[in-house]
Amino acid sequence: MHRTKIDVEPDAATACQNCEWTGPGSYLNAIADLGERVTAGEKMPAGQCPRCGSLAHLITTRWRVSDSITFERVWYVDAASEEEAISVAERTPNAAEETQIDNTPWHAELASESESA
Ligand SMILES: [Zn+2]
Repeated sequence: MHRTKIDVEPDAATACQNCEWTGPGSYLNAIADLGERVTAGEKMPAGQCPRCGSLAHLITTRWRVSDSITFERVWYVDAASEEEAISVAERTPNAAEETQIDNTPWHAELASESESA
């Protein structure tokens, strides 16, 4: 059996997709036969649940990120924290091209249910 250890922050919040288990990334086990359990385009798991053995993922929320000067460019980003949401937006090629990325302040807020639909 092939086991894949995913590089996850030890204190990152993760949750099992099958049972009720949630806990820090350091509790997760290496994933057995990753290639057979995750298909292309599917969200990458963070590890294997220590309780039931199902795949577990980082707990992320959807953030609405915009540049805080014009509010013209808006991204919806799934990230674990506001900081991570902003860093994802900063890496978006169009954002770097169209804005002065180095001195543009960014603004991230939790997307509401209606906005994320
Ligand atoms: Zn589980």
